Amino acid sequence: MTKYIFVTGGVTSSLGKGIISASLAKLLQARGYRVTIQKFDPYINIDPGTLNPYEHGECYVTEDGAETDLDLGHYERFLNVPTSQANNVTTGRIYQTVINKERQGAYLGKTVQVIPHITDEIKNNIRYLGDSGDYDIVITELGGTVGDIESLPYIEAVRQFKWEVGSNNAIVIHLTLIPFLAAAGELKTKPTQHSVKMLLEYGIQPDILVCRTEHHIGPDIRKKIALFCNVNINAVVESIDASTIYDVPLLMLKEQLDRTVLAKLKLSLKNEPDLEQWKDFLGRLKNPISEIKIGLVGKYVELPDAYKSITEAFIHAGAFNECKVKVQCIHSEGITEENVAAKLGKLDGVLVAPGFGNRGIEGKIIAIQYVREHNIPFFGICLGMQCAVIEFGRNVLGMADAHSTEMDENTDFAVISMMEEQKKITLKGGTMRLGAYPCELKKGTKAYNLYGKSRITERHRHRYEFNNDFLKQYEDAGMIASGINPESNLVEIIELKNHPYFVAAQFHPELKSTVATPHPLFIKFISASLENAKKKTSL
Ligand code: GLN
Repeated sequence: MTKYIFVTGGVTSSLGKGIISASLAKLLQARGYRVTIQKFDPYINIDPGTLNPYEHGECYVTEDGAETDLDLGHYERFLNVPTSQANNVTTGRIYQTVINKERQGAYLGKTVQVIPHITDEIKNNIRYLGDSGDYDIVITELGGTVGDIESLPYIEAVRQFKWEVGSNNAIVIHLTLIPFLAAAGELKTKPTQHSVKMLLEYGIQPDILVCRTEHHIGPDIRKKIALFCNVNINAVVESIDASTIYDVPLLMLKEQLDRTVLAKLKLSLKNEPDLEQWKDFLGRLKNPISEIKIGLVGKYVELPDAYKSITEAFIHAGAFNECKVKVQCIHSEGITEENVAAKLGKLDGVLVAPGFGNRGIEGKIIAIQYVREHNIPFFGICLGMQCAVIEFGRNVLGMADAHSTEMDENTDFAVISMMEEQKKITLKGGTMRLGAYPCELKKGTKAYNLYGKSRITERHRHRYEFNNDFLKQYEDAGMIASGINPESNLVEIIELKNHPYFVAAQFHPELKSTVATPHPLFIKFISASLENAKKKTSL
């Protein structure tokens, strides 16, 4: 039977439930268990696809085209196993399903209520992954903080679920904060006691407490927490601030979180965790032999979470190259012809980020012209690729007002335009070109050489495309389409022939970069930037 682990959060938000869940999953996977992680988000949006990145950071896209919470990115980066729509469920989705069932008459005249109908639907979603037979253990992370009104149905569903399957088959891990009061010079356990009391009021006794802290928790404090929160002393787990999220699995291993979990679930320890590859990655990450500075040009740079998968992909590819990648965020709105040299001239490489809408577009185009003309390695993603096409159209092919019809519907040169099937769509949620699509790489191109094969699949999230009416003109001038969708002929990758590294993708390569498999386009972008850095110092 599948075993279930629920991860709740107390005291404050942002304690890192996603990283703790992913780290525990990593340890269990390294012991030989098949594990997946699911996240419940207590907001009413059906999915985060319609959210502004300033709200919840990046929207992560799965293979099956689900627009999901960025924690799913951590799950995939840690486990190297794809997630799907079933791994992220929101209150909006739960209610939508229940309301649709009500309209179909599925409740046979009953009054439809939060309890039992909403809680039953939550339980259906918990069971769904377990019933697939693909996993030994399902970890379910509950978004929000215990005590939030909107989280209550989830907590109640967990209480019922635990009662139904029995305490050997489902456990609750509560992530909490042990603040350090500098004036008193003490770690304080009271907020944790209160948040556990609140869980108890809802009928849940947590099995394990993971305590976020800035200072080590000594045996006295552990004993105090255990006594007042009614858990075993070995179920009080310290989670000290780490220099990188990738340290957390090893910190949890040291705290024996995996052993405690397996004992409570009556599962065997199997083998000792095989973390050789993980440790090798960490070794490279922490002992770089070189350093480069990369500019990340985007318009959401005030909130680094908006580009989470990109910054993580830099970490994976940097470690692969034994190179520390210092990412400098540059607001595209602030880039002008006058200041572009000052802003970008000293960088070793520049990535132009994905995005939507007109704000900051001209700054991205100016940045791309600069790096193209100055042979600075360039990597464009989604809107970044579209801007590279616009820039080339304007400045190389002489199409003065070349643009995307997203920004200018009346341009004479619509080098980026909307796909025919997109034009009929009026609803905004879940209607973009989403998820994995195949791409055929042309032999002899940089892209082909980097991937080392001709057929790849990559994940998408966009409405606009390269306009193939202009393809011949572009290729004749040296910007080639090195990757094409074999069914629709859509251009998926462009590159310049006479440039050290000028590659841009309509898809999002960052979504498939993991610790175990850094992405080839990122690996090569870093190594090209490293070459550029070396060239500068040898001048
Ligand atoms: N706004 C562009 C489009 O919809 C690019 C989207 C993106 O960068 N993810 O096509």
